[in-house]
Amino acid sequence: MAYNKIETYDEKITNDLIHHYKSSIELLGEDVSREGLLKTPERVAKAMQFLTEGYQMDAKAILEGARFTEAYSEMVIVKDIELYSLCEHHMLPFFGKAHIAYIPNGYITGLSKLARVVDVFARRLQVQERMTHQILDAIQETLQPLGVGVVIEAQHLCMMMRGVQKQNSVTTTSAFSGQFEDGRTRNEFMRLITK
Ligand SMILES: [Zn+2]
Repeated sequence: MAYNKIETYDEKITNDLIHHYKSSIELLGEDVSREGLLKTPERVAKAMQFLTEGYQMDAKAILEGARFTEAYSEMVIVKDIELYSLCEHHMLPFFGKAHIAYIPNGYITGLSKLARVVDVFARRLQVQERMTHQILDAIQETLQPLGVGVVIEAQHLCMMMRGVQKQNSVTTTSAFSGQFEDGRTRNEFMRLITK
């Protein structure tokens, strides 16, 4: 994963994190001075800053920066957007796919921007349910379409690794607004993302 996407790591924050991760690793019974672990606190500090960089990003600004006038008013669907996030209860990954649809009402956005909006909300400590609604709200408020549908399918390592859940079971969450509250539109969306 490209941790170097963060161009400048705040030095004070990085150093504080390194200090805390060193302590954490020691408290877990490891020897932070052994060769394999020497640079681990620094790597973890940078990885965690990358994986939570969504706090510094503004989903609405991303969508507004690529909002175009367009008369198209059929359903726009972007499916299978890869998603990697961290559950806020255990700080362990959950990962899967997001499917987004909207029906334009005068404005469209760049398709890649929808994927970036997913990253904005995925790269922070999250619960899948809230993330689903945050993505929907950002699109609804900036593009003001006739409706938005968001479906997220994800597997949660905090459940899988602890044996709370059968391996490979997938949690699905969804949020709908406007015309997607109508069964026919919603069903069309669901049919298009499952085939
Ligand atoms: Zn969890």
